[in-house]
Amino acid sequence: EVINRSQTKEIIQDNLDYTMFSWSKQKGIDPIAVKYAKGVYLYDHDEKRYIDFSSGLMNVNIGHGDQRITEAVVKQMQQVSYVTPSCVTEVRGEIGKKLAEICPGDLNKSFFTLCGASSIENAIKVARLHTGRHKILTRYQSYHGSSYGAISASGDPRRIPADSQQAPNFIHFDLPISYRWNYGDENLLKESVHQLERIIAYEGPGTIAAIILEGESGSSGCLKYPKGYLQQVRRICDDNGILLIADEVMSGFGRTGQWFGFQNHDIIPDMIVMAKGITCGYLPFGCLMLSDRIAAKYDDAVLPLGLTYSAHPVSCAAALATLQIYEDDNLIENAAVMGKYVDEQVAILRQKHLCIGDWRNTGLLGCLELVKDRETKEPMAPFNAKPDQMTVMNKVAARIKELGMYTFVRWNYIFIAPPLNITRDQIDEGIAIISEALKIADESLK
Ligand code: PLP
Repeated sequence: EVINRSQTKEIIQDNLDYTMFSWSKQKGIDPIAVKYAKGVYLYDHDEKRYIDFSSGLMNVNIGHGDQRITEAVVKQMQQVSYVTPSCVTEVRGEIGKKLAEICPGDLNKSFFTLCGASSIENAIKVARLHTGRHKILTRYQSYHGSSYGAISASGDPRRIPADSQQAPNFIHFDLPISYRWNYGDENLLKESVHQLERIIAYEGPGTIAAIILEGESGSSGCLKYPKGYLQQVRRICDDNGILLIADEVMSGFGRTGQWFGFQNHDIIPDMIVMAKGITCGYLPFGCLMLSDRIAAKYDDAVLPLGLTYSAHPVSCAAALATLQIYEDDNLIENAAVMGKYVDEQVAILRQKHLCIGDWRNTGLLGCLELVKDRETKEPMAPFNAKPDQMTVMNKVAARIKELGMYTFVRWNYIFIAPPLNITRDQIDEGIAIISEALKIADESLK
């Protein structure tokens, strides 16, 4: 049933009048009114189709509308929808066991949460309790969530409007980026490692509980680690009694062509923070994965963490069904193969559009970086751009939407991170839309 345009307007107006929108000025928002979604497509109330090139917020890895999840969720709800976290259910044990299977090393013990931020908060608590130290080190160009501790851990400018509420004892460090620093791989690695070692020395290694790093950088611009960097970070952590926490909220669950982003770097962290792709947004869920070594501390001591909805049975059922789909549909292999295909298509796109400065991706976690000039690399919109510096990017984003695509556009980045079950034809369809929209950015260079 197609509802008429005035009804669509009404739906949007109710949302604008009665609800608040994240990270936005509340005036001038023009949301898509999604009626239903299937595979890589969203459909609005006028039956307009949008190809979802960012899997929602890089979370709907298995694609939209998968009835296998609906069935698992309904079945669980028919049995029991909620038990307190002190009770157990069959699905809680099953998803715990499954996660232990896919995690390397002795990462075997799950503490279930609700989302990325609540997993990060609990990771920070555990790291401090475990080490008896207070400082947490993270990268400036990172995002770890919007709650009090998580936004303080984030280096991303999203933390700046709330700067007066910054929690103490979060230290950020910079990481040179190969696109803008013509150092060469070897020097880049050396400089990055030295910078981190210097900061640890200045702060005092004995004060630092943990380093939190995304397994692969996500919404900060898919900024690649220098080759070998995470192995060096692992070594530095081991040498100094610091825990290494991998934030796999965005890079986890197949997105980079591996179960977890850190597996592209041959390291094993001490804890893994998970959310997004664990249930692909079908229900809110998250997990803090602990190593046996850290978990053992609580064999005879109270674990001072708790959430009313920890290990929510229905979310556990959704997670279990989601993980099965990754395997049954070979989605992780497909992410790697399709990531390479996107690489090839973007190489062609680069020849056509002078506004493309850089393209960075791992599997299907990628973004285009637009510039005003390929020589100077001046970004099309600067880091933490003000609204009036977003004119060209806003026009590009509006054109993308008009042409039937939903994707995450931020500053001078256009993300290409579609569901992992995307096909070559669908990638072609999306790339053609981006190519058309980039003409606006190309025009602005003249
Ligand atoms: N960590 C990373 C790497 C993220 O990308 C995000 C969200 O985008 C979060 C944590 C926060 O997750 P949530 O929004 O579920 O709290």
